[in-house]
Formats: sequence, structure tokens, C-alpha cells
Amino acid sequence: MNIILFGPPGAGKGTQSKNLVKKLNGFQISTGDILRNEIKNNTNIGKEIINDMNNGKFVTDEIVNKLITTFVFDPNKKNRLIFDGYPRTLNQAKNLDILLEKSDQKIGLVFFLNVNKEIIIKRIEKRKIIENRSDDDINTLIKRYETYMETTKPVLNFYMKKNNFHEIDGSMEIDKITSKINGFINV
Ligand code: AMP
Repeated sequence: MNIILFGPPGAGKGTQSKNLVKKLNGFQISTGDILRNEIKNNTNIGKEIINDMNNGKFVTDEIVNKLITTFVFDPNKKNRLIFDGYPRTLNQAKNLDILLEKSDQKIGLVFFLNVNKEIIIKRIEKRKIIENRSDDDINTLIKRYETYMETTKPVLNFYMKKNNFHEIDGSMEIDKITSKINGFINV
């Protein structure tokens, strides 16, 4: 089944997607990682997005929608997609529905990892030390959090109305979040 992990930066989407990848033999689609790779490889897209990424702004829907398309249509990944950080705008959510319909797939589950700002700041400070991510300085973080909260509300409302939506308290211990998520998956 295809799964969406939704939640502000630092909510634990990456950690939980890795768990789901193992459990479901799935494929993680982290748009953050895909975009960072474009920058690392100094591609045309990388050059176009570097400023927005480093300033905590969203990359345009056009670029992100284009980058995920090949993953959705890859027959080896069909019904095994774990979305981490996508969709983040209503346009992206609608685009994903269209791509999934075209490729005869559906979203099985949507998890919203809900965490408050204070906890996220603490976690990102920790991650900054471990992963040395250039977009993780504290001002960028606050910008990213605010951008996220402002722009993702419509996406949250879009998925909340559906019966496969589950809100999870993302401030819990990692293992507790994992077992909550696993509780919704019957394998
Ligand atoms: P993440 O690793 O998911 O926290 O994403 C890091 C940064 O990549 C974000 O702050 C955005 O600048 C950009 N980004 C990642 N995913 C998206 C997306 N779905 N739409 C727009 N920008 C994105």
C-alpha cells in the first residue's frame, strides 16, 4: 500500500518512513533528499532551487511535481510508495491524486505526525550536529516551520476529510510512534 507521512520538519517523518520501508518492503520518496541531491550534483534544477532551499522556502510545485512523477510510474515501486515530505501544498496533493489514478494506485494511509515548535527546535538542533545539514541553522528552521504551518493547512484539511487519515502525537518516543503506525498496518 502507498502511505503519506505528513508533519512539520523534525516531526520524525524520515525515521518513520525508514521503518515503513523495512516493514512493507517499500520505497521512500523524500522530496527533501531528492532536492538536496539535485543541489549536490549541481544540476540545473539544483542551481535553480539552492536559494529557496537555504532560505527555508518551498521549492515550486512545478519542480517537485516533476521530480516525483518517475517514482510514481515506476512499476517496481507500484503500491509500495512511502511519501516523506510530499505533498506539501494543495496543488501537490491534487497532482498526486491524478498521478496515482493514472497509474491505477491509491493512497492507503495518511499519518499526520503532530509536534509543537519547541520540541522540533530541540530535535533539529540535535540533527544538525549529527547530519550537518546546511538548511538546518536555527533561523532557517524557524522559517521552515512557519512556512510549513502556513502553507500546509489546506493540505491537512484535504486529507483530514478522508477516512484513511490518522493524527499521531509526534512528541512521543520514536518506538511508541512506530508501534502506533504499525497498528494501522495489517501485514
Ligand atoms: P525536508 O527534508 O522534507 O524537511 O525538506 C527540506 C526542504 O526541501 C524544505 O524546507 C523545502 O525547501 C524543500 N522541500 C522538500 N519537500 C518539498 C515539497 N514537497 N515542496 C516544496 N518544497 C519541498
